[in-house]
Amino acid sequence: MFGGMPFRVEAWIPIGDLGSVNVYAFTDGASTVLVDSGMFSGKSVYTLLKGLRRVGVDPRSVERIVVTHYHVDHLTGAAILCEALGAELMLARGDLELLLRVGVEEYFRRALELLALAGTPREVLEEIKRYSPAVRVAEAYGAVAELGPKPLGEGDIIEMPGHGDYLVLETPGHTPGHIVLVSHGKREVLLGDTVLPDITPHVSLHSIDSDPLGNYMSSLSRIATETAGYLGLPGHGNPMKDVAARARQLTRHHVERLEEIVYILSRLAGATAFEVAQRVGWSVAGGWRGLPPLGKYLALGETLSHLRRLEVLGVVERLEVEGKLRWRLAVNPLDAASLIKESFRESG
Ligand SMILES: [Zn+2]
Repeated sequence: MFGGMPFRVEAWIPIGDLGSVNVYAFTDGASTVLVDSGMFSGKSVYTLLKGLRRVGVDPRSVERIVVTHYHVDHLTGAAILCEALGAELMLARGDLELLLRVGVEEYFRRALELLALAGTPREVLEEIKRYSPAVRVAEAYGAVAELGPKPLGEGDIIEMPGHGDYLVLETPGHTPGHIVLVSHGKREVLLGDTVLPDITPHVSLHSIDSDPLGNYMSSLSRIATETAGYLGLPGHGNPMKDVAARARQLTRHHVERLEEIVYILSRLAGATAFEVAQRVGWSVAGGWRGLPPLGKYLALGETLSHLRRLEVLGVVERLEVEGKLRWRLAVNPLDAASLIKESFRESG
């Protein structure tokens, strides 16, 4: 006999409009496993501990923290919690490898290098550098690495106290190693940021040879088929009754954005990603110009991941002209539309 939903506790985070991250607590009273952990900040950890007490979970019973992906608001709170509670940390294998092999400062340096190649003017890059949280949390990631997290990957099983076994599925895209945790018995999936109810999870491009949006669309397709009708427990916001419906909606959003970028390139052949990003209809007042520096950073990464997807599909070509990447249609717009639709059918 296993209880209903795990407890959902919101940990405060100082990131844009998000406000908080969901931490899920599975407990049988004596032992507790947390999924995700909030941020490397006194207030974030404090709100999490208070929240656990409020639902009747003694923080001292936490023996393990499982983290869905390496983003600062999900992972870095664990550095404080594991030190204080002696808990074990487990992290998505692909993200752990990146964290240990590349490190956050080098990762961000490469991201900025790619943005410069993408035609981002120096003043916009400077603005982004000043506002990026990645630089401020280098210390936090160092503390996480020092804990020696254990890797988790496809097919691993985690026993949740009082709730039975959860299966690990790899759902790359939002980060290269992102995992979700599924209970087929309870028809429930812990999603991290793979599927969110109110916002579109960010998909950036970290290296020009990768195809994170392609990976992400395959992950959405997996969620829509393997967990159809399941309760979705997201990293931000409220539970979703049918996670598959939301996954399909997100797929449609990306198909529309791919089509929008094809349209932009049909009018502006040989554009840089920066020029494309300025013309995309971002859902903020004022579009591109209404975006804060961090928003511009995300929007550029998003544009690049879509351009790269179109390149992999054979819809666009990438040229390097005087140290800048430029993109143009490789097929006529009609064929572009059918290539996009075909790929969507394959993955959906
Ligand atoms: Zn995230």
